[in-house]
Formats: sequence, structure tokens, C-alpha cells
Amino acid sequence: LDYRRAQFLLSAVEPAQLPADRGDEVAFAGRSNAGKSSALNAITDQKQLARVSKTPGRTQQINVFPLAEDAATARLIDLPGFGYAKAPASVREHWQRILPQYLENRQSLRGLILIMDIRHPLGPLDSQMLTWCEAAGLPVHVLLSKADKLGRGRAGNTLQSVRRDARAICPAATAQLFSSQTRQGVDDARRQLDDWLQT
Ligand code: GDP
Repeated sequence: LDYRRAQFLLSAVEPAQLPADRGDEVAFAGRSNAGKSSALNAITDQKQLARVSKTPGRTQQINVFPLAEDAATARLIDLPGFGYAKAPASVREHWQRILPQYLENRQSLRGLILIMDIRHPLGPLDSQMLTWCEAAGLPVHVLLSKADKLGRGRAGNTLQSVRRDARAICPAATAQLFSSQTRQGVDDARRQLDDWLQT
């Protein structure tokens, strides 16, 4: 699929505001500052695509990026950066309730891309996300972002341990190294998206 064709469609605070539950979508999640916006920009080859997700007020919304004019076919879904330090407790509680429901009930959702900073992988909120996906029977693929920050040896060792620890929660979870800076892993991430979206 041509990820460069992704365009912003809308922001939602409730699943009811999302496009009709038809076609195929893949959701992106990650702790704030994990590199989620940079990963979306790298995968879609657009410097500014995820800028909307950084707009004050929209960091705590679900942002929808269809891959074509017709939003009914294939979409990338940018979930709110969980653990966002500045979010009020009421907003955090809202997403603690909404996200597992979305992962569980959204028929068009094919998989979750979970972005983790390779220097701080598998925090409590990442484990929470994996637990929800396991409960929902939803496939998960982890991008260990900012892989350029570690040498090759340490990056490889971290990848092995994250695979092991993620599979302890969600046995089908897969993982790869990723860097939006060097573009390491961008093609692998796109192949994973193709697997999920080209049905
Ligand atoms: P988000 O909050 O998860 O959307 O994270 P951002 O994409 O805004 O990235 C957070 C910070 O990490 C920014 O300062 C980025 O420049 C930096 N960053 C993101 N991806 C990479 C990467 O691949 N390599 C390096 N070195 N820094 C990155």
C-alpha cells in the first residue's frame, strides 16, 4: 500500500465519532515521547502528517489518517499518547475505559503497532496495552524506536529481551528495531502494515 497517501481526516474522543467500522485499520500506540509521531511521519514519508497529533487539545484524541480519499478502505489510527503527564486524571481515566473497549470491539482493527523508546522499553503502560491486546485477541507488533541511540550489540540484545518479555504477556507479539532518524526498519514496518491491511 502507498503510505505516502495518508491524510488527516478527523479527531475523535469517543469510538462513536470514528469512521464507519468497515474496511481495515491499524492503530498506533505508545507512551508520550516514545517516538510515535516521528514513526508515523517516517512510515508515511510526510514531515508533517502527525503534526495534528501534536496540536494542543488533539494529543488526547484519536486521530484518523485514511490512506486514500475513501476512508472506508484502509486507515492508520493514532491513539492518544498514554501516560501523557500533563493530562488531567479525568482524561486518563476516560482513556483507561475507552481504549480496551476500542481494542476489543472495533471490527475493522487488524493490529496494533506499539512504539517504545528502545532505552525505556516495556513500562507499566506498555504491559497494560499488551494485556488488553491479548484479551482482545488482537495482533501486536512492537517498534523499538530511536534504535540509533544504542550501538548495534545493545540494540540487538534489547530486541531479544523485549521479544521474550512481550511474549510472556502476549504470545503472538512480534518486535523490530526502528529509527525515524536513520529510517532503519521503515520498510519492515510497512511490510507489517501491508500484512494487516491487504486482506
Ligand atoms: P511522541 O510523543 O511519541 O509522538 O514522540 P515524538 O515523535 O514527538 O518524539 C519524541 C522525541 O524523540 C522528539 O524529540 C524526537 O525528535 C525524538 N525522536 C523520535 N524518533 C527518534 C529517532 O528515531 N531517533 C532519535 N534519535 N530521536 C527520535
